[in-house]
Amino acid sequence: MEISPCPHIASVEIVKHPRKPVCEECVAIGADWVHLRTCQSCGVTLCCDSSPNRHASKHARVSKHPVIASAQPGERWLYCYPDDEMADY
Ligand SMILES: [Zn+2]
Ligand SMILES: [Zn+2]
Ligand SMILES: [Zn+2]
Repeated sequence: MEISPCPHIASVEIVKHPRKPVCEECVAIGADWVHLRTCQSCGVTLCCDSSPNRHASKHARVSKHPVIASAQPGERWLYCYPDDEMADY
C-alpha cells in the first residue's frame, strides 16, 4: 500500500529515539505510565493516552509539536496529532 504521510510526518528525516526509556514528567511526579512516545520536534519522551497522565498528548497541545514516535521496543511508527495520521518507518 502506498503511504502518503502528512507534511509533518514527511518532514521527519531522522527519527528521534528516547534518551531514557521513561516518561520524563511521570518520573518527576512519581506517576506510572503504560507506553512511551518520543516527540519528534524536541526529543522529549512522554507517556501515551493509555497512561493516567497522557503527557505526550498534553505536550503536543501545549507546545504545538505535531509528531511523536512510539518509544516501545519493536514498534516503528510515527503519529501526527493535528492530522490524526500514523505512518510506519
Ligand atoms: Zn501532520
Ligand atoms: Zn507521563
Ligand atoms: Zn516536543
